[in-house]
Amino acid sequence: MPKTITDTVALSNGVEMPWEGFGVFQMEPGPVTQNAVEKALKVGYRHVDTASLYANEKEVGAALKASRIPRKEVFITTKVWNTDLGYDATLKAFEISLQLLDMDYIDLYLVHWPVKGKYLDTWKALEKLYRDGAVKAIGISNFMVHQMQDVLEACEIKPMVNQCEYHPLYQRREIHQYCIENQIQFEAWAPLGQGRALDISEVLEIAAKNGKSPAQVLLRWDLQNEVVTIPKSITPARIIENSKIFDFELSGEDMARINNLNEEEHTLDYPADCGY
Ligand code: NDP
Repeated sequence: MPKTITDTVALSNGVEMPWEGFGVFQMEPGPVTQNAVEKALKVGYRHVDTASLYANEKEVGAALKASRIPRKEVFITTKVWNTDLGYDATLKAFEISLQLLDMDYIDLYLVHWPVKGKYLDTWKALEKLYRDGAVKAIGISNFMVHQMQDVLEACEIKPMVNQCEYHPLYQRREIHQYCIENQIQFEAWAPLGQGRALDISEVLEIAAKNGKSPAQVLLRWDLQNEVVTIPKSITPARIIENSKIFDFELSGEDMARINNLNEEEHTLDYPADCGY
């Protein structure tokens, strides 16, 4: 079990990925993102999750520079958006992300959504970037089991990560299990259910019992399920709160109560063009 916010999991290719990262979706570009990422780095996060869609890669890169933390000590994820899928378009989109981040490599590059008919060519582009050393690891996001099967059948290099919506109300059991069986690290987006999972009465009770906040309970539940987690906040006190999840342990009974909350509901309208 990780003991500090810098502790990592080894991906299938040996690259070390911190168990907890800092998400920046729906974070306004400009000072809002830059201040939040600087704060996160200052309080110990060493992993930031952005995407070209979020339009704040530039601020993520600027925050890392301002922090003066060496590049190699921070794990940066970004993603190729649906309109840039396909082999050539992905290579081009990657260059733009790299320039905006002002970095010479990315730690993890993800296919943001499995758009039907496009994700296999996109995967070939990610394999090229990986072989060229431009990315340390490659992965997928929002892929269901049949889409992961497609990729595994066609690929030369297996995805190292699948990042999916995951919180107690939406536990993605089939996808998670398939990832475990195929050495694909499972990563949770919306680990707080975008706020919705914070008010569940069982979570409130477990938080009170452990002397922790509901957010800390949700994030700790991820760690104990061996799921990488990337909460987002622009609020300094919450950025700190969300980082303090390494000094307590949920009992088997608490874990089971949270496991029982699964409703397989989801929070976002998934992009229509994915063709699920
Ligand atoms: P989260 O589950 O992280 O929830 C974020 C919301 O919770 C914000 O409104 C935030 O408010 C609030 N919050 C954060 N901490 C606390 C706290 N301690 N107490 C109370 N409220 C809190 O949702 P996200 O959608 O942001 O998911 C996390 C990350 O996952 C994203 O930022 C992004 O990096 C990634 N992601 C990936 C997707 C994909 O398709 N691959 C899709 C969606 C997200 P405030 O900021 O005001 O403090």
